[in-house]
Amino acid sequence: MKTQVAIIGAGPSGLLLGQLLQRQGIDNIIVERRSGDYVLSRIRAGVLEQGMVDLLREAGVDQRMDEEGLPHDGFELVFDNRRVRVPLDKLTGGSKVMVYGQTEVTRDLMAAREAVGATTLYEADNVQPHSLESEHPYLTFEHNGETIRLDCDYIAGCDGYHGVSRQSIPQDRLKEFEKVYPFGWLGMLSDTPPVSDELIYASHERGFSLCSMRSATRSRYYLQVPLDEKVEDWSDERFWDELKRRLPDDVADKLVTGPSIEKSIAPLRSFVVEPMQHGRLFLVGDAAHIVPPTGAKGLNLAASDVNTLYRLMVKVYQEGRTDLIERYSATCLKRIWKAERFSWWMTSMLHNFSEEEDFNSRMQLAELDYVTSSQAGLTTIAENYVGLPYEPLE
Ligand SMILES: Cc1cc2nc3c(=O)[nH]c(=O)nc-3n(C[C@H](O)[C@H](O)[C@H](O)COP(=O)(O)OP(=O)(O)OC[C@H]3O[C@@H](n4cnc5c(N)ncnc54)[C@H](O)[C@@H]3O)c2cc1C
Repeated sequence: MKTQVAIIGAGPSGLLLGQLLQRQGIDNIIVERRSGDYVLSRIRAGVLEQGMVDLLREAGVDQRMDEEGLPHDGFELVFDNRRVRVPLDKLTGGSKVMVYGQTEVTRDLMAAREAVGATTLYEADNVQPHSLESEHPYLTFEHNGETIRLDCDYIAGCDGYHGVSRQSIPQDRLKEFEKVYPFGWLGMLSDTPPVSDELIYASHERGFSLCSMRSATRSRYYLQVPLDEKVEDWSDERFWDELKRRLPDDVADKLVTGPSIEKSIAPLRSFVVEPMQHGRLFLVGDAAHIVPPTGAKGLNLAASDVNTLYRLMVKVYQEGRTDLIERYSATCLKRIWKAERFSWWMTSMLHNFSEEEDFNSRMQLAELDYVTSSQAGLTTIAENYVGLPYEPLE
């Protein structure tokens, strides 16, 4: 088999990149380890920055997002029994975010890819990239009992944190930066109306909580839990009780409870690898970086990498600008480190790091009090939350 860009992974990075390239006439094949249904069953992110919304429009997958997505122009921070609204649009000259689930973005991209007849090979085993430093890289994998070789010009490693792409780069060429937090998020999805029209990020002595949503009838709630917590130990009743304890009374009183449709625990970590390219392999999205979800940046960072690689590939194929290839990693990393900083800062400010009230907890309160009472502080939060501008290639 032969294509121009071989894409490993059919998560949001791979599907969005594939769709954008396809619309520019750049041929690509996606090779995915799991089945399409499995990919769609993963419940993950839900807050899209303006830049990602614009990119989805460019990819031609905006119809359902516009019909069903919820534009948000603010969110709330809760601490010390106070509720402070961050008016995103007022502080950023009109920018907003869009609440539309990662699952729905993925579903729309899959449908668009099928409509244009582009190839995605699901349930491909043992995907291996080869000859990355040559002008003729290729993938090998097993599909439907056959061993297949896929020749290409470039490889996009969109295969997430546990994928094969990063691992196929020689260790001595990479530097990894990592911070692991001493807690995780227990997430619960339920078909109940959200407790508020806007997201609520709540700091509390019992631990952080987040009230989020996927639609007007579907809620997504999170609780900070210790790393060794087991999801089986959390009945729906226990989850709702604990969430109520961590919210102000007026919010807790309005909370509509009901049976969960999904519960899972995700550990929190920050991770970046440098550089994000090796020869003709480019790392995209979670394959190169992870953020704790507190700043709603994981999926959005994947989209900004896609934006950079997509524009680079268009320059390469339409203008012969192969000189720009070397700039991919540095261009992405500039924005990634700023999103890493915001996610780390929000995590550090809002989570409970100790059972006792200590110096750190007083610093957190002072910081929250300061940033929410200062126009400059609120603007800092707002402009990072709606997403910093995409970095140009040149
Ligand atoms: C549990 C969880 C909750 C999250 N919650 C949030 C949130 O609330 N907010 C937020 O902003 N972000 C969140 N994120 C992060 C966000 O979901 C990711 O940043 C986003 O999915 C990145 O997309 P991606 O396409 O780069 O990687 P992925 O979505 O991981 O997709 C990678 C794809 O590659 C495939 N693959 C892996 N290995 C191979 C291989 N060897 N061969 C072929 N295919 C392979 C995988 O099956 C997968 O389909 C969450 C992540 C997780 C894990």
